[in-house]
Amino acid sequence: MILLEGKTPAGLLREELRSRAAALAATGHASCLAAVLVGGDKASDLYLRRKAKLGRELGITVEEHRIPSASETELASLLRELGQRPDVDGILVEQPLPRSVRKEKVLAAIEWAKDVDGRTPATPKAVMRLLRHYGIRLAGAHVVIVGHSDVVGKPLAMLMLHADATVTVCHKLTRDLVTHTRQADIVVVAAGVPGLIRGDMIRPGATVVDVGINVVDGKTVGDVDFESVSAVAGALTPVPGGVGPLTTLTILENTVDNAERHFMTADCAAD
Ligand code: NAD
Repeated sequence: MILLEGKTPAGLLREELRSRAAALAATGHASCLAAVLVGGDKASDLYLRRKAKLGRELGITVEEHRIPSASETELASLLRELGQRPDVDGILVEQPLPRSVRKEKVLAAIEWAKDVDGRTPATPKAVMRLLRHYGIRLAGAHVVIVGHSDVVGKPLAMLMLHADATVTVCHKLTRDLVTHTRQADIVVVAAGVPGLIRGDMIRPGATVVDVGINVVDGKTVGDVDFESVSAVAGALTPVPGGVGPLTTLTILENTVDNAERHFMTADCAAD
């Protein structure tokens, strides 16, 4: 079985971003991501610190906006202010948001062109990069996605269709999940349910991508029962160390993409 580790493609992407950020800086524009964290969610705090550290290593500014509490109106106003700042290329709101605010209302205040996780969702792009790196063929493959969230399952289905895969999307109301997963050449699971996918649900030799991140007894685990699935699958991502490292980098990649686009627009306007 091939272990689909994220660290090699992540290392390549890091080097690419480092040189792209340096090229931008040489023109006088430092790429900048503004990340907003509301409330005291420990995991989100850790993710934000990791992003900031990674940004420092790559020459990308990560502005950390840590807000203990805020109303929907206050948050929307901060996001609009960030959207208007020419030095900010990307905006990210760490999730989950506190229950006191409506997620849709807050996210709608992010300037569309700068929305580095909504407009160009990072996790699906990370999954596609990982599969491409390991040469997993998508054209003609039957891909079963378990989970239909707006940030993972739905946009991933579009990217897979774009790559000419045949796509089935399952969710918590799907009847008889196993009949779908057993037909798949590639199973991608993003449900947030530890142990949801077991070895007997996988066709021998299939590729399994585990997007899930769950903490069980203080340990980070995915949605796949690693032991039983690794005995059947042809390729499988570890958790941690699979999709995760690429997702964080993809947020920064989207920021650099925006910075380059702004630079090109400014360049054209100057001509
Ligand atoms: P979500 O809660 O928004 O969506 C979960 C999806 O799973 C829904 O479509 C739901 O219908 C489906 N689901 C739930 N229980 C199911 C079941 N028993 N059978 C079939 N489908 C079921 O979650 P999300 O934001 O899409 O995240 C999903 C998981 O991926 C979480 O564990 C999250 O932490 C993780 N995640 C990881 C990364 C990464 O970089 N690795 C990025 C984003 C999210």
